[in-house]
Amino acid sequence: MHRIRVHAEVSGPPRTGQRSTPADPREQAYRGEVSTDARQVTTASLGDVVDALAGHRLTVLTGAGVSTDSGIPDYRGPDSPPRTPMTFQQFVGDEAFRRHYWARNHVGWRHVNRTLPNKGHQALVALEQRGVVLGIITQNVDLLHEAAGSRHVIDLHGRYDRVVCLECGTVIGRRELADRLDALNPGFADEIGAVADVEIAPDADAVIEATSHFVAADCARCGGMLKPDIVYFGETVPRERVERAYALVDAGDALLVAGSSLTVQSGLRFVRHAAQAGKPVVVVNRGATRGDRYAVVTLDAGTSETLTELAEVLPAPRASG
Ligand SMILES: [Zn+2]
Repeated sequence: MHRIRVHAEVSGPPRTGQRSTPADPREQAYRGEVSTDARQVTTASLGDVVDALAGHRLTVLTGAGVSTDSGIPDYRGPDSPPRTPMTFQQFVGDEAFRRHYWARNHVGWRHVNRTLPNKGHQALVALEQRGVVLGIITQNVDLLHEAAGSRHVIDLHGRYDRVVCLECGTVIGRRELADRLDALNPGFADEIGAVADVEIAPDADAVIEATSHFVAADCARCGGMLKPDIVYFGETVPRERVERAYALVDAGDALLVAGSSLTVQSGLRFVRHAAQAGKPVVVVNRGATRGDRYAVVTLDAGTSETLTELAEVLPAPRASG
């Protein structure tokens, strides 16, 4: 059962006679205020998504919802348990917290390492091969787009398989660090890994207890503090990466948001940027998003099935020039 909302107005001044219509109480809660944007809310179908996107070369912005069918839970989804995300300040400011974090990450990253792309990831590969999708900006750090075979992917929030030294900037592979952590903590990963129901968070964090004896590792080169090469709350996305993402949005004719509630500015800004450039924005997500006000069509649906259907019906765009 899909509940579908269509916003008829993308941007620009309200037209006479149209009144602001709150789409959904949840949406209002996200915005914190009633928007003055004029829009109409009607029910529609996947056909409206196809109509909005057909013939366009798409930039795609993906979030945690795309990976849930691969077994990585979306902690911001409508049915998710409440969870306070770790902040950068917590990580660098508290050694006990950091030890606890690395203990959980040491288990969690293996689980992410074993996950497989799902039909949504595969559909985006097919769409890229047909020239419909220009590239993907992902908020996920699980590398499942790359694993599926997508060629042009910007990992906006970093990647779980790399670790960076906050002092000297050296980047090492997560597997190399795993070997060092195994040596420092013999048997730890096997012991914890054998426990059933190790829950994985999108940032390769596994929810486990008993971490007080865990020994974290420092940079082998300079002794500095190591951190997963992941952008945490309280951190900013590196400027160069943001610029590449804007360029990808500019290169496309339309922006498709898949599986993100756009809770954080780091993703929302690209939605705003596309809408301000007059490009149609389509949102496919379970639950309302902070980007709905910028969208021509919002589809409340799962991404695996929706992207699969889009891959079957979206025509290849005409060659430009
Ligand atoms: Zn270092």
